[in-house]
Amino acid sequence: MPGLRSRHTMGPGLDFVDLPSLSAAVHQCRKCPLGHSRTRAVPGVGPSDGRIMIVGEAPGQNEDLQGEPFVGAAGKLLDQLLRGIGLSRGDVFITNILKCRPPGNRDPQPAEAEACSPYLEQQLRLIKPEVVLVLGRHALARLLPGYESISRLHGKVVVKDGVSYIPVYHPAAALYNSFLMGPLEQDFKAVKTHLDRVEERRQVAAALATPVPKQEEQLTLFG
Ligand code: SF4
Ligand code: URA
Repeated sequence: MPGLRSRHTMGPGLDFVDLPSLSAAVHQCRKCPLGHSRTRAVPGVGPSDGRIMIVGEAPGQNEDLQGEPFVGAAGKLLDQLLRGIGLSRGDVFITNILKCRPPGNRDPQPAEAEACSPYLEQQLRLIKPEVVLVLGRHALARLLPGYESISRLHGKVVVKDGVSYIPVYHPAAALYNSFLMGPLEQDFKAVKTHLDRVEERRQVAAALATPVPKQEEQLTLFG
């Protein structure tokens, strides 16, 4: 397949030169049974150099029909939460742990998540996000194995391999349990605080990297 190279650590055919070749492989994938029951695979959408990546659980019915992540009710809520912190869908790369819909929206099975994880790992390597929003307990278990539960970790920043992971409640969980809506909004406020802090640090670093003109040059400039 064009755009694919083999790689020792991941087995042949799982090192992609770019996101389009990764997506093409996902659309062909039959590595687990979901590849046979799906309507459309949902590799993910967003800028290839996005600073923020959002990882959900798995496509639902609408996503399976349209081939895009988070286009149903949970997606509307996600858009709203993003807008609330000054971001739009186009600013972030959105994907899921599983790229194909589990029948009836059942929970992902461990073997399916295992089979699908090389795609997500490659997306992380290609996009190199600064911040990853981890939506819900399934994404948390996959991206931060061995960490605490979502109810303890939501809204906190976990730095792993130089990337800031922020677990938040899943929007679908908040639609189902309205008492999670407040905590979910708080989680997005925590995301905003973190992003603002990152931006502040970036500006300080940029200012420090800018050479300060020498005394006499300053005098000519301003005098
Ligand atoms: Fe392949 Fe992942 Fe779809 Fe399973 S869920 S068929 S591993 S893309
Ligand atoms: N829920 C998810 O976790 N992902 C989607 O893409 C849609 C709903």
